[in-house]
Amino acid sequence: MALAIEPLFHDPVNGDFYKRAFLYMTEPERMISFHVPWMDDEGKLNVNRGWRVEFSSALGPYKGGLRFHPTVDDGILKFLGFEQIFKNALTGLPLGGAKGGSDFDPKGKSEAEIRRFCESFMTQLCRYIDASTDVPAGDIGVGGREIGFMYGQYKRLSNKHGEGVLTGKSLLFGGIHFRPEATGYGAVYMAQHAIEDKLGQTLEGKRCAVSGSGNVAQYASQMLMKLGAKVVSVSDSNGVIVFENGMTPGDWDEVIHAKQVKRARLSLLEGATSGVYHHGHSPWTLPGLQQIDFAFPCATQNEIDEAGAQLLLEKGCMGVFEGANLPTTAEGQAVLRSNPKVLYIPGKAANAGGVGTSGLEMSQNASKTQWKKEKVDAMLKEMMSGIYKQMVEAAGDDGTLEEGCNRAGFLKVAHALKGLGWVY
Ligand code: NDP
Repeated sequence: MALAIEPLFHDPVNGDFYKRAFLYMTEPERMISFHVPWMDDEGKLNVNRGWRVEFSSALGPYKGGLRFHPTVDDGILKFLGFEQIFKNALTGLPLGGAKGGSDFDPKGKSEAEIRRFCESFMTQLCRYIDASTDVPAGDIGVGGREIGFMYGQYKRLSNKHGEGVLTGKSLLFGGIHFRPEATGYGAVYMAQHAIEDKLGQTLEGKRCAVSGSGNVAQYASQMLMKLGAKVVSVSDSNGVIVFENGMTPGDWDEVIHAKQVKRARLSLLEGATSGVYHHGHSPWTLPGLQQIDFAFPCATQNEIDEAGAQLLLEKGCMGVFEGANLPTTAEGQAVLRSNPKVLYIPGKAANAGGVGTSGLEMSQNASKTQWKKEKVDAMLKEMMSGIYKQMVEAAGDDGTLEEGCNRAGFLKVAHALKGLGWVY
């Protein structure tokens, strides 16, 4: 952030207003922390911690996902919530920024345990959320199943049944078409714009490394294949499957079945796909993987470090499009910036299609209707194209896309703070 914002701190017209606005933005407006007691299948009491970081309401209701993962703490949620403010600003929708979750580990839990946990989590969270106050969604460890259980509990407790209080809901009770696909598809649409505009090329035939095999990775891979790219990897926290000749639709079905239906590890797919499984590696640590034209990190934060970024440049990488939030470390970013020919689009722009479509789900719920698939896909495409244009405009003649996206998001929020009379 500092890189792009620094010149604004010496703005001749606004003095140091932007510095004051920036400092104001760095503290969450409100942080909530609570106990989540739940019973496991042996009848034993477990207690986890839950959080909601309501970071900024300058542009609209607090909005951002819930993450269930053992590494979650208030620090991780603060950085995710901070990024979310600017991402949501870029969508052009009236959405503030937030993030939440728990240090609960869903891995290895039965469906009954997941349900009991989600119900207990919502029993606490429900007193802080509302369609016009704070609207959570999914993130790592929180997919359609978990959103359904939490929404079910919210309905029981609140007696409100048509509310856009959670997004990522099933189509059966107020969800929107394309929400599961939106983040991954959106990241690929964003890549398409940048590759065509800046490199005069297309994704056709390009070797694209994808990390992760969860929601974002699944649909980024699917859209890349639809556009004729070769998906050369998917991964999970234990290892990576490398497809030197590109993933096939049959391979994709195997991954989807393993992850969405069996909730299994990728290691169990050894021999079941055309790829080769490498334990203990990610796409960014594998010296054996041949050329990578474009990288789509879609797993988690800090996955591409300095060495990973260097490896990408050695393999001829021309662009990194972040499906995940902050997957590139500060050192990794410095390596990518060292080659100005490499396109680098941070998560706050590249993965904004997810929250953008969640914003559309809120509008759909408010209008008590169900929008058609084609309408939502067209709106998602338009949104990603709008974000790309904002980045290019804010970057100006000399700036990078990274600088443009940081600037565009920041300026929108800063001007809202001024208009609201909160920073002057
Ligand atoms: P999922 O839980 O569906 O999938 C996460 C994937 O990342 C899994 O394959 C998981 O492997 C892997 N992963 C998690 N932690 C690690 C780790 N420490 N090291 C290596 N791999 C890891 O989450 P999503 O796909 O929803 O989210 C992925 C990223 O995208 C996150 O950064 C999230 O914040 C971001 N994002 C998600 C959006 C959405 O709409 N879902 C919207 C915008 C951003 P394993 O199963 O082994 O844990």
